[in-house]
Amino acid sequence: MSLADPFNSKQVLFTPGPLTTASEVKKATLFDLGSRDYTFIQLVQEIRNELLELAHAQSPEYETIIVQGSGTFGVESTISSVIPADGVLLNIINGAYGRRISQMAGIHGIELVEISYPENSLYDLAEIEQALLSHPQITHISVIHGETTTGLLNPLESLGALAKQYNKVFIVDAMSTFGAYQVDVKTLNIGFLVSSSNKCIEGIPGFSFVIAKADELKKSKGNARTLSLDLYEQWLGLHSNGQFRFTPPVQVLLGFREALRLLHEEGGIEARGARYSENNLLLIEGMIRLGFEPYLPKSIRSYIITSFLYPGHPNFSFETFYQKLHEKGCVIYPGKLSQVDCFRIGNIGQIYSDDIHNLLISIEKTLLEMDIDLINQ
Ligand SMILES: *Cc1c(COP(=O)(O)O)cnc(C)c1O
Repeated sequence: MSLADPFNSKQVLFTPGPLTTASEVKKATLFDLGSRDYTFIQLVQEIRNELLELAHAQSPEYETIIVQGSGTFGVESTISSVIPADGVLLNIINGAYGRRISQMAGIHGIELVEISYPENSLYDLAEIEQALLSHPQITHISVIHGETTTGLLNPLESLGALAKQYNKVFIVDAMSTFGAYQVDVKTLNIGFLVSSSNKCIEGIPGFSFVIAKADELKKSKGNARTLSLDLYEQWLGLHSNGQFRFTPPVQVLLGFREALRLLHEEGGIEARGARYSENNLLLIEGMIRLGFEPYLPKSIRSYIITSFLYPGHPNFSFETFYQKLHEKGCVIYPGKLSQVDCFRIGNIGQIYSDDIHNLLISIEKTLLEMDIDLINQ
């Protein structure tokens, strides 16, 4: 059997997470550790401090809360815990992850003002300001930093300044960017930033984390609409005795500490961002050379993941293309766009220029096998 046998084949993941991780990270997870043991408590404290540092923040002004589950759990924990019963969320949408936040607000009965844009467009600041003026009852603003739907990068500076000017709490889903883009939570006036273990920090999946402005976090006491996702109570547990309220992903945290060490060893966020950026440049140049077209204009693309349009060739089928690449050890990502047919290629994780070269060669071979010539068609 060639498929679904991870032990027999070396697959390189060109996906936005879970992604290709270092063997050191996987090895670091091969231990048992009691969740009430002081070694574990110390490990958690170290990780929380490290994450604050990466966000350019310090305790007690900011606090890190680790939430079990995938990234969505951290976003939902934040949305369902920090907005009070009489609060109103202004949610900015230009992709699937923005839509997901609105869905959460709906489920938790949170009053919502939505501003939606096409998936290939940035938000319009003037329109957001207008919304703030016409709905003064808005208390929180949410946005996705890197919209993984397309690879779009929403700028945070101007929004953060607007949030500050109008005294709104700024919530940022920086899931797919944190660790590879500098996000200075204080300067950007971010109240709550959410990311997870298995994206640019290159850990394995299992938890998300929230970097919260402490005064806003403390104000949220009693707001939670669920027990397990209560962000304030989760923080109180970690803060008071260093423990999780419910079983923590002990091995994932062990792997994550190693991932943080490797991030430092690489040279921190700047160096990691530079590697991803180079990967991304090589990828896009190579794909264009083969005749593919990126979905987004260059000016609004991140260097995390790229959407490519399905080529308009009669022989192209994404399923076949995907399968043939998989057989060559390359795992790419289907699209998630609502309007246009795209597939995505991520270049984060333990991916280097050699891996991008190999991927491009595999894509070239695959096109040949499928009898697709995009240049001379
Ligand atoms: C990955 C991601 C999430 C969380 O997804 P999970 O599958 O729950 O880990 C949320 N927002 C963005 C922008 C993401 O890239």
